[in-house]
Amino acid sequence: MNIEDLVRNSVATVPYYRDRYASGTHELSALQPLEKATITASDLAFVSDRYNASDLLLSESSGTSGEPIRMRHTRHEESMSAMSFWRGRRWHGVSSTSAPSCRFYGFTRQASGVGYAHDPIHVSGSTMQFSWFDLSAKSFLEYYDAMLSHEPEWFQASPSVMGRFASFLSERRLAPPPSLRLIELTGEVEQQNDRDAIRAAFPGVGVANSYAAREVWSIAYECPEGSLHVSEDNVHLELVDTRQSSSDSREGTVMVTNKHFAAMPFLRYLLADRVIARPDQCLCGRPGQLIRMVSGRQSEFVDAADGSQVHAHFFHYVMMRINLIWPLAVRRFQVIQKGRDLDILIEPGSAWDEEVPDRVHRLVAERFEQDVNVSVGEVSPEKNGKFRTVVRL
Ligand SMILES: [Zn+2]
Repeated sequence: MNIEDLVRNSVATVPYYRDRYASGTHELSALQPLEKATITASDLAFVSDRYNASDLLLSESSGTSGEPIRMRHTRHEESMSAMSFWRGRRWHGVSSTSAPSCRFYGFTRQASGVGYAHDPIHVSGSTMQFSWFDLSAKSFLEYYDAMLSHEPEWFQASPSVMGRFASFLSERRLAPPPSLRLIELTGEVEQQNDRDAIRAAFPGVGVANSYAAREVWSIAYECPEGSLHVSEDNVHLELVDTRQSSSDSREGTVMVTNKHFAAMPFLRYLLADRVIARPDQCLCGRPGQLIRMVSGRQSEFVDAADGSQVHAHFFHYVMMRINLIWPLAVRRFQVIQKGRDLDILIEPGSAWDEEVPDRVHRLVAERFEQDVNVSVGEVSPEKNGKFRTVVRL
């Protein structure tokens, strides 16, 4: 849908926009940036009158603060939006949605609740999934054997997890499966050492950064020449809070509007990521403004007593489980690693229950054998105002 129609539809049929912009604007630039907290405060106000919320496909953003965004789309909107990812993958020779793939994953999220990755290796359709709650040498070897037999065409992972897996393969001189054409990196801003490790372990395999957010799907995709092209078929991207980063390029905070999601539109949705708008053209000739990531989400890991590392998503999963039992019991949390031991600080939400600390302790003890201490209190932000999930003392 073109942006003007999307804005006009939203103001006419979506309660939040109708109430706020009653004057009938149809200019995107006249709308205030939309923050996550505004949506979580009343998500149903973002559903267009033209739809029954219960008829739409429901998905959730990651509940980092214990309050995930609940999003609703039509099947058609999702298939239109997904095409943007596939356009990027085709650039690297992967064209079929049923091509065998592998990915590292933490937990699965379904309308019925949250499923924990109990099996280290799990096959779902053409996708083989490896748990990132278990990144030990023993598991990596099992993942490698399973990957060889699955013959994936592409592999999706966060750069930090894939970097660890790649270093493991290089140290043992284990060659990648010949079927593999693309490693798609997603979920966080990559570090150069992870990219180097992946390149070394997977020679001849394309490596592409897929910059996306669960609320708007594909934002940009990296071409074989190494440039990040904005997915203009999927989102309208604007930069706010900008500054001149060099004589001819601007750095700013990302604000995006998905062009397909009209049943529950988020117009000018503000993300925390900073990017630079590149003034040059890519040699490849593919469409889309070029950007370069400056900062954004980064993964954090916690050390388990058995020497393995566990992705911090494990703790998000625990808090999601708690919030499924007692909605809004946990407002925020922080994991403090002191040597081997773990202190978990929980900040109560609006619906606290005395049983929460005990339950958190039990869930964490399923994975961590070391001493785990759960306390209740306020979680303090860093100097930059952001909250960190994992702190090491
Ligand atoms: Zn390019």
